[in-house]
Amino acid sequence: MTIDTTATVTGVQEIGHWIDGAPRPSTSGRTADVFNPATGAVIGRVALADEAEIAEAIASAERAQRAWGATSIAKRQAVLFAFRELLNARKGELAEIVTREHGKVLSDAMGEILRGQEVVELATGFPHLIKGAYSENVSTGIDVYSIKQPLGVVGIVSPFNFPVMVPMWFFPIAIAAGNAVVLKPSEKDPSAALWMAELWREAGLPDGVFTVLQGDKLAVDGLLTSPVVQSISFVGSTPIAQYIYETASRHGKRVQALGGAKNHMMVLPDADLDLVADQAINAGYGAAGERCMAISVLIAVEPVADRLIEKITERISRLRVGNGAGDADGEPDLGPLISGAHREKVSGYVDIAAADGARIVVDGRGFVVDGHEDGFFFGPTLIDEIPLTSRAYREEIFGPVLSIVRVETFQEGLDLINSGEFGNGTAIFTNDGGAARRFQTEVQVGMIGINVPIPVPVAYHSFGGWKASLFGDAKAYGVHGFEFFTREKAVTSRWLDPATHEGINLGFPQNR
Ligand code: NAD
Repeated sequence: MTIDTTATVTGVQEIGHWIDGAPRPSTSGRTADVFNPATGAVIGRVALADEAEIAEAIASAERAQRAWGATSIAKRQAVLFAFRELLNARKGELAEIVTREHGKVLSDAMGEILRGQEVVELATGFPHLIKGAYSENVSTGIDVYSIKQPLGVVGIVSPFNFPVMVPMWFFPIAIAAGNAVVLKPSEKDPSAALWMAELWREAGLPDGVFTVLQGDKLAVDGLLTSPVVQSISFVGSTPIAQYIYETASRHGKRVQALGGAKNHMMVLPDADLDLVADQAINAGYGAAGERCMAISVLIAVEPVADRLIEKITERISRLRVGNGAGDADGEPDLGPLISGAHREKVSGYVDIAAADGARIVVDGRGFVVDGHEDGFFFGPTLIDEIPLTSRAYREEIFGPVLSIVRVETFQEGLDLINSGEFGNGTAIFTNDGGAARRFQTEVQVGMIGINVPIPVPVAYHSFGGWKASLFGDAKAYGVHGFEFFTREKAVTSRWLDPATHEGINLGFPQNR
């Protein structure tokens, strides 16, 4: 597949928009550097849209949506099936793009594609999920039915950490339901969106139904304030999610804005600590901790903390950090962070924890990978005895940093989780079914794992947190997705019949 980006003599790609079913080089004169985080090299320059480009993208989507919304369910379904088949056959190409710009290891890039593909597969069954309902003879000779229609043009704004999966939480369902999508990907890893746009074209999606608008705050604000754009689906950090929610709502849009997280796993004394240590490693350090469902805090209900720390420390010593694309020794366990600035931020949180009196058991600051000295690497870090008042405990770090908090009772651990700002994911590790059941009932979190550390729901259950992890009422995908991307009409119908005609009656209609 060829994305029409023009390589310069330095090998740096110019990464533009995708408008009207074709690559659209930018003329805004504004760009942002795109890095390969494993090498620290600039590999691309992504366009940052100006107002004319934003208007052009939205106008193209608006034109395309009228025809797409009127296209038969059978034809729309055929395009979705074609997209699914192409994606399944060629997903390796996409994984390479993700690893190159994001840094995560190839198998993990493939993992996010497969979880996104689940939503494509769900969306292929959309006719069943956008069916209306029919009630016959609600009053004499009167029928009522409801129909679900597309919203029109819908906007998606996505974060850097899942450049494929997060847009796929939304666009397959939005497109299936007859909407036209304008996707504003993260400017840190913008190429996956263009690859997916070309795949849609090859699948037979009409031009303009899927648009990629590259950019920064200006592009996002353009979507938030455009009277044409009917809804916004946002995923990113909490302050921006709140801004998106408030601004889009003020402009009369339907909005779902998923924010940040600080996920805890609680370990009860009866759990198998070897299995728990493996899971803590997977969930704490996978994707270098740059997952909104990563485990950031392990609550050890005593007396398990010392034994767990020993087991986790031993496992960390066996982890290999390196170029996500692999090297002579194969694929490492985790790759670099997204940028040098983000590495400084993660490092700063470890400094804060140390200054606040925490014990740094394993220190990943200053970690260097041989042969990749300019890469944005950060070593797996384990922190014990972190004070609950420390910003390093309370705030999202988004790096390979796992903190241990010791508590004496289940209740103390539960209260701790419930006192946090976020409510995205959490997990409990125990063989005590009663404790697990009480946990699922009382914890104030949207997605819960029982002996499952990263409980991302399958496509037919919806994804979303509570509290500062989700602004708006609709979660992503599943039934919520179909509700979000359709608008319902209720039709009351009667065929006038002289036999039942009751003449003039100015009273409010009553059912008989
Ligand atoms: P971010 O909030 O910095 O950026 C997200 C998107 O918003 C990007 O497209 C960016 O260009 C845009 N944006 C940034 N600043 C903006 C502004 N001032 N005005 C308008 N738009 C703006 O997030 P990120 O760093 O790309 O992603 C990491 C964050 O996303 C973490 O907080 C993580 O927890 C969160 N996240 C949450 C979920 C979830 O499901 N809750 C999933 C993935 C990531």
